[in-house]
Amino acid sequence: MYRDHTCGELRIANVGQKVTLAGWVQRSRKLGGMTFIDLRDRYGITQLVVEADAEASLVETATSLGREFVIQATGEVVERQSKNPKMPTGDIEIKLESINILNKSVTPPFTIEDESDGGEDIRAKFRYLDLRRGPLQSALALRHRMAHEVRNYLDSKGFMEIETPYLIKSTPEGARDFVVPSRMNPGQFYALPQSPQTFKQLLMVAGYDRYFQIVRCFRDEDLRADRQPEFTQIDCEMSFVEQEDVLNMFEGMMRTLFKNVIGVDIPDPLPRMSWYDAMDKYGSDKPDVRFGMAIHEITDKVKGNGFSVLDDAAYVGAIAVPGGAEYTRKQIDEITEWVKRPQVGAKGLIYIKLNADGSVKSSIDKFYTPEQLKAIAEVAEAKTGDIIFIMSGPQKRKVQTMLGVLRLEMGGRLGLRDPKVFAPLWIVDFPLLEWSEEDGRFYAMHHPFTAPKPEHMDWFNSNKKEDLERVCANAYDFVLNGNELGGGSIRIHNADVQKRMFEVLGIGPEEAEYKFGFIIHAFQFGAPPHGGLAFGFDRVCALFAGKESIRDFIAFPKNNQGRDVMIDSPSEIDQAQLDELNLDIRPIAE
Ligand code: ASP
Repeated sequence: MYRDHTCGELRIANVGQKVTLAGWVQRSRKLGGMTFIDLRDRYGITQLVVEADAEASLVETATSLGREFVIQATGEVVERQSKNPKMPTGDIEIKLESINILNKSVTPPFTIEDESDGGEDIRAKFRYLDLRRGPLQSALALRHRMAHEVRNYLDSKGFMEIETPYLIKSTPEGARDFVVPSRMNPGQFYALPQSPQTFKQLLMVAGYDRYFQIVRCFRDEDLRADRQPEFTQIDCEMSFVEQEDVLNMFEGMMRTLFKNVIGVDIPDPLPRMSWYDAMDKYGSDKPDVRFGMAIHEITDKVKGNGFSVLDDAAYVGAIAVPGGAEYTRKQIDEITEWVKRPQVGAKGLIYIKLNADGSVKSSIDKFYTPEQLKAIAEVAEAKTGDIIFIMSGPQKRKVQTMLGVLRLEMGGRLGLRDPKVFAPLWIVDFPLLEWSEEDGRFYAMHHPFTAPKPEHMDWFNSNKKEDLERVCANAYDFVLNGNELGGGSIRIHNADVQKRMFEVLGIGPEEAEYKFGFIIHAFQFGAPPHGGLAFGFDRVCALFAGKESIRDFIAFPKNNQGRDVMIDSPSEIDQAQLDELNLDIRPIAE
């Protein structure tokens, strides 16, 4: 036996016991002839001490230890002279009798402590060393705990965890597929699933009326800090349910997770907001409702004063920023430049200040009287001391989206986005379809298997664009603090409706048969009404820990270029492999 205790468990009550620990040398230092060693494992750190008058060979071994050596150490638990209240084991230390070096280590490229001196890149290259650090260990421990709670909850509700294949046929959900060449079927490819969507629906047809899976999904998208090409979903589906049943079930799951994992009570029932309200008030389909500063439409209030920018706009909206009347010219200029960045895309920013002395000051003083400006500010629900920011344009949703981005930025600057405050809600009543000007066709807002609301079937069967645009779906998203954590819908379970959906999406009968024949056929064999959803597990974990980036919650993540720099992947494959797969690589353009 290498050890009888871990490095995180000994306390004052253990004083007098003889123990053996094993772990990594975090650091060692000499102090007046004594050697102190911090021994680490994933449970914690325990201080070891070799007295000045210990056996010479022991002193010599203790002195020879380098960082990250793996040792086994035996000694007596003693009370510390100077206690360390910050460490759970800080009341005791181990007076060593022997040290056994189990393995040496070369000098690590960065110090493996909670606050590491290693940059992102070097830590990614030596991820297995980074994973020895406390913050990453707690991140993965949280992830484990969450998965455990999810399985417990769903199991208690009768869900079965069923695995679905990774080598499938492309299931478009708005992203590109990763593809895998087939050796046995030359010229043909598998696709890695963007989600198990069609399989879980087939499981419903098969009668497994409560399914879930904590499952890897693959999407070949351009990456941002919070996206990974492979990520994990809590994927669920239920039969004989309406939207209400699905929302209740998974609200319950999230409530249990919040309570059991981080001790947070979330509202019961959770608030719900329609997609239309979310866009109108927050300029986002994943509103951060930890703070107000809602968007107000002021189109009618601003027209007719000869200011062409606003007179010509189809939509004018405003947000009121608390305390903003204090902003200097320079600060306002800086915010204006900020909204003009391509990431936001505004042409400019109009402001009205409601000064503390009752006066108003704005960038449009030339066109409006102070009374008119006050009346506009009132619609935006501004108070004395606030500034209102105004944006306008030809497309309502576009302006709202820009105001929404500004709102988040101002909320952040005002400290209103505390990651330890949790404001979850459901967004419901999504439009079924989204028109793309660019491609001149409709796309499914969620995915092509989402059902239109029964009361909107006439519009769905109409061939008029305005009618189709009005169709809503029983689709829903679980949103937390400005992040979409999950989403799903009630599905189509009728072959004809599914065929009509493909038609609306401009997918002809032949293409539909080729790509989705299997599911259309399945629907002809008694498909039950069904619906479900999926949560982005990595992100749920990150947000529970109050973190923005999901990377620390994945043991071996990819970087922003989609590379695993530790194993150096993706990589070329050799000619023999290419030949076997019947593949030729074209010369790659510089
Ligand atoms: N498959 C969907 C997604 O990955 C979730 C669902 O509709 O259940 O977003």
